[in-house]
Amino acid sequence: MAKYRCRNCNYLLDLRPGKRLPTKCPYCSKDGTLDPVKSAQELIDEVASIKSRDEE
Ligand SMILES: [Zn+2]
Repeated sequence: MAKYRCRNCNYLLDLRPGKRLPTKCPYCSKDGTLDPVKSAQELIDEVASIKSRDEE
């Protein structure tokens, strides 16, 4: 199950498989504020990829 969090109000949305992500937050009705919430493993992978990226 995918989780999304609203950047505006921090509402946590559980998106069941087969359901479409709403374009608006169901809580505050803001458009385009829903960001996928990453699992711990995804965060670890992301940090690893940031570290391996060359600094400019
Ligand atoms: Zn919201």
